[in-house]
Amino acid sequence: MSRYWSAVVHGLTPYVPGEQPKLANLVKLNTNENPYGPSPKVLDAVRAEAADTLRLYPDPNSDRLRAGIAAYHGVTAEQVFVGNGSDEVLAHAFMALLKHDQAILFPDISYSFYPVYCGLYEIAYRQIPLTESFEIKVDDYLVPNGGVIFPNPNAPTGRLLALDQIERLLAGNPDSVVVIDEAYIDFGGDSVVGLVARYPQLLVTRTLSKSHALAGLRVGYAIGQPHLIEALNRVKDSFNSYPLDRFAQAGALASMEDRGYFESICVKVVATRTRLVAEMEQLGFEVLPSAANFIFARHPAHEGVTLAASLREHSIIVRHFKNPARIAPFLRITVGTNAQCDALLAALKAIVAC
Ligand SMILES: *Cc1c(COP(=O)(O)O)cnc(C)c1O
Repeated sequence: MSRYWSAVVHGLTPYVPGEQPKLANLVKLNTNENPYGPSPKVLDAVRAEAADTLRLYPDPNSDRLRAGIAAYHGVTAEQVFVGNGSDEVLAHAFMALLKHDQAILFPDISYSFYPVYCGLYEIAYRQIPLTESFEIKVDDYLVPNGGVIFPNPNAPTGRLLALDQIERLLAGNPDSVVVIDEAYIDFGGDSVVGLVARYPQLLVTRTLSKSHALAGLRVGYAIGQPHLIEALNRVKDSFNSYPLDRFAQAGALASMEDRGYFESICVKVVATRTRLVAEMEQLGFEVLPSAANFIFARHPAHEGVTLAASLREHSIIVRHFKNPARIAPFLRITVGTNAQCDALLAALKAIVAC
């Protein structure tokens, strides 16, 4: 009965999120969630919102949360935009800032939601190949474009682009918006937020889903100069004026304020990552350098799809991407707790031994 559909829907290729299995007792290393829970202060703040005030709409502008995010980053609240997960923030950025006559640019291997937004909003795009070693080469982006977007660290590779390279991109690309998606930056990279004051075309997006262990709360944000934020607000208020409910606003604020807690869980994840990489290499895996809470690894003697299926038989789920073909040998594995990594390593040992 697709004859009832709007024309654009026929052409959509929706994003496929990582599986959220209903089975218990799985070692779930497929969607880059944090293995540690959120701050106890977040849980208190969320519980406090379970009150009679739920009959009232939440603050449409999330003023207190934006002030908390601004304080954390040393910017003003006018430089902060919040959304229902950074996916929503990104969607609004595509609509508000990246839809022009010229094609936008992003890496051929990067967050697979970007081409989906382009399909939805009918935005032309061109994918720029990463180098042989899966790195972003800034010179490739210094060509006429309608905008540039990539994650840093990149996903699903985990590779980080150095701050001075991003600055070179900004300096050489003054006429279109550059979006840096910092979903994983808290796990080991230098943020570009400090460059926002100097570059009017820079928008930085962040999420509380990974480093703050709040994937279930759905909060993301963007930082940029007020003229960029205004464009995002125009789209947001043409779509949904109340994207963050009362729980999300209160919980996210508590998390931004409990800096010590979320930094401590990031330190634990990074320590486990170091150990996991070393032990995977012992098993013969080639692991790309990761600045994220996941690793991207392949084994010279085993196909990615087979490894993923074998791990599943051991009740361990990881992410495998069939496309592009260049990354088909790889597995993207979320860094879990030390115990989860032990289970992973034991299973891999059994699998690669035979
Ligand atoms: C996880 C992720 C996001 C989206 O996060 P939300 O949960 O929607 O905040 C955005 N970009 C990249 C690269 C991601 O990996």
